[in-house]
Amino acid sequence: MHLFAPDGFSKREPGARQILRVPKTPIGIHEPWAADGHDKLNKIGFPIWALVDDATGKWLGAWIVPNNRDPNIVSYCFLETVLKYKGYRLRVREVRERETTVDWERGRRAERQDIYTDGSMTDGGVASAAVWMKRGEEKMRRTLRIGETDEHTVYEAELMGITLAMEIAQEHRFKGKIHIGLDNQAVLTTIKTRSPKFAQKMWEDLGRLIKTYLKRDPTNEVEFRWTPGHEGFEGNERADGAARGAAEEERRMGGEEEEEEEGWEDGRMVPISRAATRQRLMKEIGEKRRDMWKNSTRYDRMQGFDDTMPSKIFGRLTKSLRRKQASVIFQLRTGHVQLAKHLYTMGKEESPMCKGCGRRPETVYHYIMECERYETARRRHFAYMGRNQRTMTRLLKEEKLLPKLFSYINDTKRLKRLFGTFDTG
Ligand SMILES: [Zn+2]
Repeated sequence: MHLFAPDGFSKREPGARQILRVPKTPIGIHEPWAADGHDKLNKIGFPIWALVDDATGKWLGAWIVPNNRDPNIVSYCFLETVLKYKGYRLRVREVRERETTVDWERGRRAERQDIYTDGSMTDGGVASAAVWMKRGEEKMRRTLRIGETDEHTVYEAELMGITLAMEIAQEHRFKGKIHIGLDNQAVLTTIKTRSPKFAQKMWEDLGRLIKTYLKRDPTNEVEFRWTPGHEGFEGNERADGAARGAAEEERRMGGEEEEEEEGWEDGRMVPISRAATRQRLMKEIGEKRRDMWKNSTRYDRMQGFDDTMPSKIFGRLTKSLRRKQASVIFQLRTGHVQLAKHLYTMGKEESPMCKGCGRRPETVYHYIMECERYETARRRHFAYMGRNQRTMTRLLKEEKLLPKLFSYINDTKRLKRLFGTFDTG
């Protein structure tokens, strides 16, 4: 084999890039079966297709076939096995190695509704992107910077990428099958098993978007494909670039030193990552302790740890308040907030238009900077600040401006039903 298929061997060489493998979780004998095409002997004319029992590793059947990707041939082999074992199991797992997937993707015909998604984490932040490719030409892209590196994980960014893809589909009235490509095995596995363990809120939102799409027409379908990154697929590369660009965006726009935003860290209601938060908190606690140790005499060192107590208690007292504020800020920043425009996109509202003035779609910008209905509140709280994008970005970013923002939100009563009144102290 070494002689005939050197590719496969070089990929498994120690030090070569890891071949991605999903951990197996069989629940018992014959549950599930794993189906796999083996390409190692293709070059000398022996494509193989096989079924293996995941739990025991027993080969249920293996065939040398003319083509191990032809659905007719694969079905035949599968049914043969079903006959042999007098039945088939609940689940059949399709095994696809990176190399196989790359081949499939390369040979795939470009469709009208291909959307490639990606999530990215750079020094500038965490962001998502979706790029719509129509028969190989870019039609449009959507990006979203979801937050700081210590607030979110790439997993969430990838998930948000799919949400953006569904939003493109919604807005452009897609019909029939949507093909969504992503390069994240964890997210794909969750799609297959339908049992999200992280970012539940985001999964719910996404689930709703997909359901709305499927309900709209019986021919509507959503297909998720693993599109391995860095293999030169154009849609992938574009989504990757778009997400990276978006991650850096705010930094370029602001031009100033990023301010530490305290109070956003707890995220039970918000899709802010617990894993990322924990990492950051542990790091901060570590640093704090080290500093205290350095700056104290031995006696003080004993006292030092007690000093952390008051702030801990304070933190607990204000936790619920901060959580609510963190939640609304995240929603306003990402646009995923209960305003008409977003609700319309999610299929929960008949029209995107603002009910306050009836003049424009109720976007976050319209609500905060523009709607005449709230002009009195705006004058009161944002008196000399400009009415522009930059002001809005500052309001959503700078901690010292938050009391103003929350006073404004309170005065407009627009989000009161959902959030109640915000503490502005
Ligand atoms: Zn309005």
